[in-house]
Amino acid sequence: MISASKKFPTDPHGWAELLPERQARQSLSGTHRVPWVVVGAGFTGLACARRLGELHPDQEILLLDARLVAQGASGRNSGFAVVTSQFPGGVVPDQIENYRRVNRINRAGLDLLSAQVSEQAIDCQWCEEGIYHTAADRLAIKEYHHFLHYLETLEIDHRPLDKTALHDRLGTSLYQVGIHVTDGALLQPAALVRGLADTLPANVRLYEQSPALKIEDGKPLTLHLATGEVKTDKLILTMNYEASTLGFLRPYIIGSTLSGSFTRVLSKQELASLGSETEWGVISLHGGGATLRLTRDHRLCIRNTAEYHSSTLLSDKKLAHRQAIHRVAFDKRFPQLAQVPFEYSWSGVEGITRNNTNFFGRQRDNIYLAGGYNGSGVSRGTAFGAAIADYASEETSQTISDCLASAPGAWMPPRPFLDIGAFFTVHSRFRGVGLDR
Ligand SMILES: Cc1cc2nc3c(=O)[nH]c(=O)nc-3n(C[C@H](O)[C@H](O)[C@H](O)COP(=O)(O)OP(=O)(O)OC[C@H]3O[C@@H](n4cnc5c(N)ncnc54)[C@H](O)[C@@H]3O)c2cc1C
Repeated sequence: MISASKKFPTDPHGWAELLPERQARQSLSGTHRVPWVVVGAGFTGLACARRLGELHPDQEILLLDARLVAQGASGRNSGFAVVTSQFPGGVVPDQIENYRRVNRINRAGLDLLSAQVSEQAIDCQWCEEGIYHTAADRLAIKEYHHFLHYLETLEIDHRPLDKTALHDRLGTSLYQVGIHVTDGALLQPAALVRGLADTLPANVRLYEQSPALKIEDGKPLTLHLATGEVKTDKLILTMNYEASTLGFLRPYIIGSTLSGSFTRVLSKQELASLGSETEWGVISLHGGGATLRLTRDHRLCIRNTAEYHSSTLLSDKKLAHRQAIHRVAFDKRFPQLAQVPFEYSWSGVEGITRNNTNFFGRQRDNIYLAGGYNGSGVSRGTAFGAAIADYASEETSQTISDCLASAPGAWMPPRPFLDIGAFFTVHSRFRGVGLDR
């Protein structure tokens, strides 16, 4: 018998705050008997439940989330669905097949999302125009040269840009160099997650605010909740770093807390000061650098903090303090918009591992798990989610083989050493970040 924490804190801040109210699905009560249960309704769990629903049209699939849909990391990220992952440092020749493997997984995820957005007409600011990767300071410029070499080696479509070209497109003079990678998408994460949750196949039943608290082994397995229980033949865990609350992945994954802010909607004149592109996303070539978005609804969004905060969201007071950090970074990039206030700030927790790996496979009899992603879970989590459904259904595919080839997680020590190690792991991401923060 494995016990789990009963606490799944959340707050009202985030991208969902920008959307109209939504009628939540009911929480689970009573006793249920189903062939399949998926725990966690982020990108991984939603893709998994959808795929199971398609593979087993005559069977009932139950999908549980501890929170309201879009209140986890999937609804709180920066909204980049990446196809081409960046691997810091120079190209390592014997890693080229590994780079290709990761990018194939990303591609599979992006293709699934793209198809679902168009088939289900999900209104989520989906924009498949690619992603900018930029550098302002020395270390990021060094990464620029590595990334360029990597893109050329892997024959990935891209366009290098100098300072003037970046200024003309984005309206900032901060960046010395950048690259526009033509694959990849931008999206409103909470709108996409809600859209995916509200268009699941008819044989998938979603329960929100329904934390799974305990797994009891046996045939069938029994999943205990505060107000009910579910007996199931197969259980798939897609809870990211919170898998540890049910006793899985404990020494391998922690939550890193990130934060960002949005401006109010920009005026026409303010928008005109931003150059020729009307909607864009910038990822820093330094791992600790800021991500930036100009959203379709004309807000600028900046995210530039990450910290170990015991895998929880930031309090209002801490968020206000982080907002001051966002402001400094924003004004440095857009001095012409220094008078534009932030309207929202938010935090979110992403799962990170020491060796930047992902988890995929069977944990023990009839219990499967997919998760991890270190900040790339939009496309990759979607691919992992669909693939774990296939794998648990004894299908075979290239994506399953690619996911199975993920490196094992690197061990993390127990508390209190974990807290110290986690602090340094997250902190090290900012080494030498300079102007890119
Ligand atoms: C601020 C921020 C910015 C980011 N930016 C990007 C980005 O631009 N692009 C990108 O690709 N990635 C980004 N990420 C990372 C990305 O959000 C994650 O990798 C992704 O959301 C992981 O998806 P998931 O479905 O595996 O996990 P989650 O989204 O964490 O979903 C897991 C779900 O499980 C539920 N759960 C947990 N325990 C239980 C339980 N016991 N019972 C029931 N339900 C449970 C949770 O409530 C949660 O909804 C960012 C993350 C953050 C925080």
